[in-house]
Amino acid sequence: MKTAKPLSIYVHLPFCASLCAYCSFPRLVYREEWAELYLRKIESDLEAFEPGSFLTAYVGGGTPSALPNGLLAPFLSKLRPLLKEGAEFSFEANPEDIDGEKAALLSSCGVSRVSMGMETSREEALAFLGRRADPKATAKAVECLRSAGIENVSLDLIYGLPGETLDEVRSDIEALLAIRPSHFSTYSLEINPGSRLSARGYEEAPDDVLSEQLELIKEEGRKRGFRRYEVSSFALPGFECVHNKTYWKDEEYVGIGMGAAGYENGIRYRNSPFFVPFLEGKGREEEKVEGNSAIEYYLLTNLRLSDGFLASDFEAKFGVPFLERFGKAADALAKAGLLETGKGRVAPTDRGLDLLDRILLELYNSL
Ligand code: SF4
Repeated sequence: MKTAKPLSIYVHLPFCASLCAYCSFPRLVYREEWAELYLRKIESDLEAFEPGSFLTAYVGGGTPSALPNGLLAPFLSKLRPLLKEGAEFSFEANPEDIDGEKAALLSSCGVSRVSMGMETSREEALAFLGRRADPKATAKAVECLRSAGIENVSLDLIYGLPGETLDEVRSDIEALLAIRPSHFSTYSLEINPGSRLSARGYEEAPDDVLSEQLELIKEEGRKRGFRRYEVSSFALPGFECVHNKTYWKDEEYVGIGMGAAGYENGIRYRNSPFFVPFLEGKGREEEKVEGNSAIEYYLLTNLRLSDGFLASDFEAKFGVPFLERFGKAADALAKAGLLETGKGRVAPTDRGLDLLDRILLELYNSL
């Protein structure tokens, strides 16, 4: 299969000021000597790329904003020239790290979009999650970013905390919308076996509770003009995340950093999630995407989008019409109100986005 050169780059900065109880990302507590070693490796990896190579960049973590300005500035100055004029340049931050000085630094280094983990507006819920933010920190951080000229702000909201009521979720989404972000993402709390929360006896909320909470978040978002364009992502018109849509359109992208995933020349890879092997360039896992696994990835990614994909794109990529390959399963999913296949497009309904696992299972079973 012929693939285009990646136009998106993800860079992982794994350092956090403290580690949250529920987190399973590759991350490390910040220590200056580790951060210096790490950035040296990242900056040398970035040297492989020509100036003006990318249309989007996303610096994620970890907590990229946990790095002091003296380390961030040289790193961002290495990354920025690799972007084309007008590229979307996203940076993940924890609200309490953003002050006027950091906001000015990000803006002067070309960052155009900041994504922050607000998570909840309630102090006791933040403490439960092991986060050190004060509930007002997000609003203050957004103010600093706006004053520095960064208007495009996305906030993350978590729901499904043990024992959380609908009124508490309502107060969280109202507090988030009052800050007027251009985009927000929402996730239910996952409690993985072996995590600190699971060891303390906590379990995930039941499905009916989660679904009621998500309905409320969707409804409040809709009332304020947000469109749910992806399973967990809501945007005002013109503010969908271009970088993340690279993933969801099954397009290739470069992944730099510890535990970072990438997709280049038909190969999906993940760098080692461990510090020393990553620094030594060891432990990268690779998977060649071909045959049915290429179709599975295509469906797994594109069906996260409310716009789904064009039937003609599927046929051009895989040499067979979607409905010829999946007619029976697609029919059953359409009858169940989960998938639409009219007007040359294959797209999940809003309920289908909630039940994406079921759509994928049905389609995969008929591969
Ligand atoms: S700040 Fe983010 S990346 Fe770091 S431990 Fe907490 S959730 Fe994980």
